[in-house]
Amino acid sequence: MTTDIMKVYIDGQFVDSADAKISVFDHGLLYGDGIFEGIRLYDGCVFRLDEHLERLEYSAKAVLLDMPWSRQEISDAVCETCRENNLKNGYIRLIVTRGIGSLGLSPKSCKSPSIIIIADVLSLYPKEYYEKGLDIITVPTRRINPAALSPAVKSMNYLNNIMAKMEADRLGYIEALMLNDQGYVAECTGDNVFIYHKGKLWTPPFHAGALKGVTRGVVFDIAESLGVPVEQENLTRYDIWVADECFLTGTAAEVIPVVEVDGRKIGDGAPGKVTGDFLVEFRSRVAKEGTLL
Ligand code: PMP
Repeated sequence: MTTDIMKVYIDGQFVDSADAKISVFDHGLLYGDGIFEGIRLYDGCVFRLDEHLERLEYSAKAVLLDMPWSRQEISDAVCETCRENNLKNGYIRLIVTRGIGSLGLSPKSCKSPSIIIIADVLSLYPKEYYEKGLDIITVPTRRINPAALSPAVKSMNYLNNIMAKMEADRLGYIEALMLNDQGYVAECTGDNVFIYHKGKLWTPPFHAGALKGVTRGVVFDIAESLGVPVEQENLTRYDIWVADECFLTGTAAEVIPVVEVDGRKIGDGAPGKVTGDFLVEFRSRVAKEGTLL
């Protein structure tokens, strides 16, 4: 929800949301030339901020976008934006665009990137999905080939995922399972996917087209502390269909159970016990960790 009293950070200034505008010549708008992060604020603490800023730096490096700000400067700006909006819990969108340039494709004309930070309340999956679990479906649109643009780059080009989301939506599903061009499972449109089968957790490796999700990383940490082995292996749809449990992870979604994929019930069709354990452990970590505002 956007409120008109919200203050948006743009290039070092706070502006009212109604005046939060960027140039039509920004290559972020003209070409989707930019990168971003979605970050959570829990109880006055920014969760895994360093990991998000590291991923932002890696995205910038991969697309040859020179960010003139240090990690500390960006971190301070993120915290300042939350304080300016009196937020204790919410969702932070951190965007770095290539900046203003001429109409040509080349970013050579873009002299300085822009940084935008929006801190708002969060619109989550409805609570009932955490209790009942999600039904998802595989869609025809494939995840982008890493040889074209690495899916590890969190870029402002989300059309690939948007197409998949629309395909799922038209069939009455809230989330889509996306395969890569080899037919292996990559991820969902805005979440990573995990299965639990015969005592092990499995998730696609990032070269299969998965974003290196920060929440995915938290799940690896939880698995280690619970003594659950994790395998990063190519997964087929069959592996998902016959799994004991399935769940998705993401900054907004946290850990959310999946109970049906492509019309097949996962396990007994109810959210799995291990998934529940991971969600409980995830929520206890967000309550304890984080960068204090
Ligand atoms: N995959 C995609 C395509 C995403 O956009 C996201 C973030 N919404 C994720 C996975 C999950 O990543 P994270 O846990 O860092 O939010």
